[in-house]
Amino acid sequence: MNPSQWIDVTPENFNYSLDHFVIPSHYSKDLESILIPHGVIMDRVEKLAKIIVAQSVGPMVCCCILKGGHQFFADLVNVIKKLTTKDGKSIPLSLEFIRVKSYHNDESGEVKVSLTEEECKEFEGKNILIVEDIIDTGKTMVKLLEKLRQYKPHTLKVAALLLKKTVNSNGYVPDFVGFAIPDAFVVGYALDYNEYFRDLDHVCVISEHGKHKYAI
Ligand code: 5GP
Repeated sequence: MNPSQWIDVTPENFNYSLDHFVIPSHYSKDLESILIPHGVIMDRVEKLAKIIVAQSVGPMVCCCILKGGHQFFADLVNVIKKLTTKDGKSIPLSLEFIRVKSYHNDESGEVKVSLTEEECKEFEGKNILIVEDIIDTGKTMVKLLEKLRQYKPHTLKVAALLLKKTVNSNGYVPDFVGFAIPDAFVVGYALDYNEYFRDLDHVCVISEHGKHKYAI
C-alpha cells in the first residue's frame, strides 16, 4: 500500500468538536477533540479488508496485538471473513492473540511476546497478518517482526489502523495503514490511557484534564 492510499488526518480535513458526535458523559471533560469518528473508522476498515483480501495468498493467520488492537482486529476479521478473492474463493482464517511488551530503554531492545516457543513455531510456512492499533516510533513493530521472522513464516504482513506522523519515527511503515495521524496522544476504539477510554468508540485526542485525571 503506498502512502497515497492512506487517509491523511490533519486538523484541516478532520476537525470535529465534542458536540458533533455522541461521547460517553463520563469522558466529557477528558477529551480535546474527536479525531476520527467511529463511522469513518468502520468504513475505512471495510476498505482495508478489501485491499488485504485482494493481496492475500491463501489461508491466513490473523494475529491480534492486545490489548489496543482488539477492536480493530474484531472489526477487520469480521469483514475479511465475508469477502472472497478475485477467483471467488473465501480465505480460511485462524486467529492468534499476542501480548507484546517492549523494553525501549533496555540495552537488548528486545520485545517479549506472550506466546510460547511451541506456539511461535506454528508460524512456520504460514501467511501471518499482524493487526496492530497504532505505530508510533515503530520500535515495537520492528522488534516484533525481527522475532517472528526467526520462525520462517511464508508471508508476514502488518495492518495498523493508525500511523503517527512523528519526528521520532524510525521509518517503519506497515503494509496496510488506515489513517496517518498527527503527533498527539490518542484514545478510544480500544486504545487506552492507563486502561481508560477503551469504552469510547471514536478515536479522540485526550485533554490535559483527562491526562491528569487518569494519571497513575
Ligand atoms: P512504538 O514502539 O511504535 O513507539 O509504540 C507502539 C505502542 O505504543 C502502541 O502499540 C501503543 O500501545 C502505544 N502508543 C503509541 N502512541 C499511542 C497513542 O497515541 N495512544 C495510545 N493509546 N497508545 C499509543
